[in-house]
Amino acid sequence: MKKRSFGWLCATLLLTWASGSFAPAFAWDKTGHQYINRAAAMAFPGDMPAFMRTPETIDAIAYLGPEPDRWGTLGGSELRDTLRPEHYILMELADLAGPLPRTRPEYLRNLTAAQILHPDRAADLTPYRVGLQPYSAIEVYGRLLAAMREYRRLNAAHENTKPVELAITFYAGWLGHYVGDGANPMHTSINYNGWVQDNPDGYTPVGHDVHGEWENLYVPANIKPDSFVSLISKPRVLNDVFTDYVAYLRGSNALVGKTYEIEKQGGFKGAGSPEAHQFTDERFAAAASMLRDIIYTAWVNSASPPAGKNIPTIQAPPR
Ligand SMILES: [Zn+2]
Repeated sequence: MKKRSFGWLCATLLLTWASGSFAPAFAWDKTGHQYINRAAAMAFPGDMPAFMRTPETIDAIAYLGPEPDRWGTLGGSELRDTLRPEHYILMELADLAGPLPRTRPEYLRNLTAAQILHPDRAADLTPYRVGLQPYSAIEVYGRLLAAMREYRRLNAAHENTKPVELAITFYAGWLGHYVGDGANPMHTSINYNGWVQDNPDGYTPVGHDVHGEWENLYVPANIKPDSFVSLISKPRVLNDVFTDYVAYLRGSNALVGKTYEIEKQGGFKGAGSPEAHQFTDERFAAAASMLRDIIYTAWVNSASPPAGKNIPTIQAPPR
C-alpha cells in the first residue's frame, strides 16, 4: 500500500466503521454456501470413508455451509461480534505486520508488534479490523484431522464410529463456510465494500453496497447448484494445508480489481453479464475444489500420527 494514501484510508475506514459496515458480514448468501459445500462433498474421492459419501452426509455438509452466518444472525450480538473477524482478512493491512505466520497466537503477536512499530496506524492493525480468516480455516482443519484420526482408531478397534462420524461431518461443513468466504475477493481485501485505495480506474467507492449486490442479490438469483460443477478440479492432496490455503486467499485477493471492473460495467445487476456469470462460477468452483482438497488431505494425513512431540510452541502468559 502506498504510504501517502494512508491518512485518507484511515479516514475512510473510520467513516465505514461509523456507518456500521466496517467488515464483510456474510458471503455468497445462504444458497451459495450450500452450493459450494454440496459440490465439494459430491466430489469426494472414492477412497474416502463410505459414510462421507452418503446422501445424508452430503445433505448435512451442505446444510452446514451457512452455519457460521446462522451463529451471527441467530446466536445473539455477543457471538456475532466475537466471531465476525473469522470470516475475512484484509490482506493489505495484514501484510503491514509481515508474512502470515502459521498460528493465531503468532499472528496476534505480530499485529501487536506492528501496532507498536506504527503507532499512527495502530487502529488499523487490530485483529478485529484486519481479520482472522486463515486461522479460522486452519483451526477447523486441525479439528477435522483429529476427528479423522479418532475415526480410524475406533474403526480399527471395531468400536462404534457413529459419534465421530457426526463430528467429522460437522467440522467438514463448518470448514466449508470459511473456504467459501475465502473465494470471494472482497473477503480478502480492504476494498471489501467500496474501493478505498487510490482509484485511477474509477471503481465504485464506499457508500454503495457492491459487496451485498454480488453476494446477496446476484448470486441467489443467477447461480445454480450445477452451473459451476464442470469447473471443479481433480482431487489432489495438498502439500501443506496452511501454505496452500494462504496462496488460495492471495489468489482471491489478486482478483479484487477484476471484481470491481465487472461491477463497474453493471455485471452484477439483475441477470448480470456473461462475464459476471463466468467469474462467479469460477470463484464457486475454486471454493468447492479447495474445500474438497482440504477435507481429502485431512483424510490422507489422518493415516499418520501427529508429527513431533505434543509440546505447545507458544508459551502461556505468566498469569
Ligand atoms: Zn462468512
